[in-house]
Amino acid sequence: MPSNVEGFVPPSAMVVVAHPDDAEFMCAGTVAKWAKQGCEVTYVIITKGDKGSDDPEMTSSKLTVIREAEQRAAGAVLGVKNFEFMGYPDGYLQHTLDLRRDVARLIRKYRPHVIMSFDPTNRFFSDNYVNHPDHRVAGDVTLDATFPTARDRLTFPELLLDGFEPWKVRQIWLSGSDKPNVWVDISDTLELKKQALMMHPSQLGEDVLEFAEQMARGSGASQELAFAESFRRFILEEDPVHE
Ligand SMILES: [Zn+2]
Repeated sequence: MPSNVEGFVPPSAMVVVAHPDDAEFMCAGTVAKWAKQGCEVTYVIITKGDKGSDDPEMTSSKLTVIREAEQRAAGAVLGVKNFEFMGYPDGYLQHTLDLRRDVARLIRKYRPHVIMSFDPTNRFFSDNYVNHPDHRVAGDVTLDATFPTARDRLTFPELLLDGFEPWKVRQIWLSGSDKPNVWVDISDTLELKKQALMMHPSQLGEDVLEFAEQMARGSGASQELAFAESFRRFILEEDPVHE
């Protein structure tokens, strides 16, 4: 049975993704809905997105600057408060202990109630899309950094020395899952999601608007919602104040 999350607004949320623009596809409608109601949202972008161009005149260093600016503009549309660009190279992401520690550091820094990322178990979405390897790694690392790394005092003791105390994330929300268990009605924020997607002109054209609408309609169909985003949610810690 699907859980009813209508009315649930966490005090804080951290979205951890591989590339600039990933978060807009995954959860922009939900982010905008929560931010409007006072949720402090932090975007963590692991790679520079510096491979996303076929233009022979484009260089990775130029593209890095463009994509960071695009991501900040998209987040501003949605009400995202904090941005962290981790600066890893696009396309080469690996599940290393260094990356896990670096994500855990940001979790301890911002102490989010909810973490959002990719479902790393979903490799094949359809007959015409194979999930990007960076997405799978980002999802996997985020899960491991959330539990148990950010929580455990004795893991990566250098984080403690830097002043980052352990933190227990309350909930994990994974996007792109083939086993969603919560659906967020984004009818009121679909337009903001579209506007945010259009802030990535180096990557996306007008055709993304129709795609985003179809995605939202498809996600909502099973719940009789006009437009939705779906997630696989895990509750790690009950919180009677906000649930
Ligand atoms: Zn991506």
